[in-house]
Amino acid sequence: MPDIFSDLLLSWYDAHARALPWRGIHNAYHTWVSETMLQQTRVETVLSYYERFLSRFPTVEALADAPEDEVLKLWEGLGYYRRAANLHRGAQQVMAEYGGELPQSVDTLKKISGIGEYTAGAIASIAFDQQVPAVDGNVIRVVSRVRGIRENVGVPSVRRRLQREAAALVPKTRPGDFNQAMMDLGATVCVPGTPSCEGCPVAALCDAYHAGDAEDLPELPRKNPPRNIDYDLCLLFSGNRVLMRQRTERMLQGLWVFPMLEEHHAPGRLPGLVRRALGLTASVPEAAGESRHVFTHQVWRMRIYLMHVKEETAPEGWRFVTAEEMDALALPTAVEKAAAIVREKLKGGNAHAQNGPRTENP
Ligand code: SF4
Repeated sequence: MPDIFSDLLLSWYDAHARALPWRGIHNAYHTWVSETMLQQTRVETVLSYYERFLSRFPTVEALADAPEDEVLKLWEGLGYYRRAANLHRGAQQVMAEYGGELPQSVDTLKKISGIGEYTAGAIASIAFDQQVPAVDGNVIRVVSRVRGIRENVGVPSVRRRLQREAAALVPKTRPGDFNQAMMDLGATVCVPGTPSCEGCPVAALCDAYHAGDAEDLPELPRKNPPRNIDYDLCLLFSGNRVLMRQRTERMLQGLWVFPMLEEHHAPGRLPGLVRRALGLTASVPEAAGESRHVFTHQVWRMRIYLMHVKEETAPEGWRFVTAEEMDALALPTAVEKAAAIVREKLKGGNAHAQNGPRTENP
């Protein structure tokens, strides 16, 4: 089965594979960057980020030497910012512990910050031609259908079985192409819900296809719906500057945000709350609109207010910044609309706010 399976899949891949800048290369650093960016993110979105990132940080050394703020700024809008911070830390680790060269074995790769089982498998197979699997969500779906795994894939023992089954399918030759073909098959043919089995190169070898239950697989762990959190987002202006801080919380760590008070309040209460939270004397608030942002586990429902403060010195942990300074900082997409309002107010234009819900991840 494995050889026939990989022959069929690789023939299909050779005919259908998209030409992408991270394909057909044997550069472990480039694979590391592309695979990190591609986690939870669409190929179309990644393309421009990948080019820009590598032109600024062409080597592990260049990335390791860069300030984290700059790395986050280049990641701005891509979401899941912890990936960028981990990649940066990982690059420093590769310089310090591995002489600037990524190691070749999966087990050693997994010791590097930000490299888990999947990314290690992708790097080892694509860059170093090792016969190991790279099991992401797409591959879990394909393998559970092809091998007829009808148990909850969130259960650790089932995950281990999936990993073993996936490993058994990887051929000795072209393991990297094979893994990318599996991901492509899962992304374009063996899709969630109703797969396009009629156009599938491995249909003859697929257990779920013959059993007629592909649509029911994989059995996924139940997810909790995202939690709604209400915020009053306060744009506090001191002259031509606005108050911001760099987040230290795990979520959106390292990104710059405006003051946010949890819950929605009567606008008249806001100056008092600002005084209590930040020790600043704020004017009567002016409502500036609403914004909603969807993360995987939270939905932020923000009411935005403009206020002026008397003080010229920012409270500890905060900074007053001009619009130009704000534009040089890395901001999460969640505060994009508020940032556009700041730009409009301080620069008098260029305020292209996003009103619709956006999905982004911390
Ligand atoms: S036959 Fe259908 S279910 Fe099976 S791998 Fe192909 S697309 Fe997926």
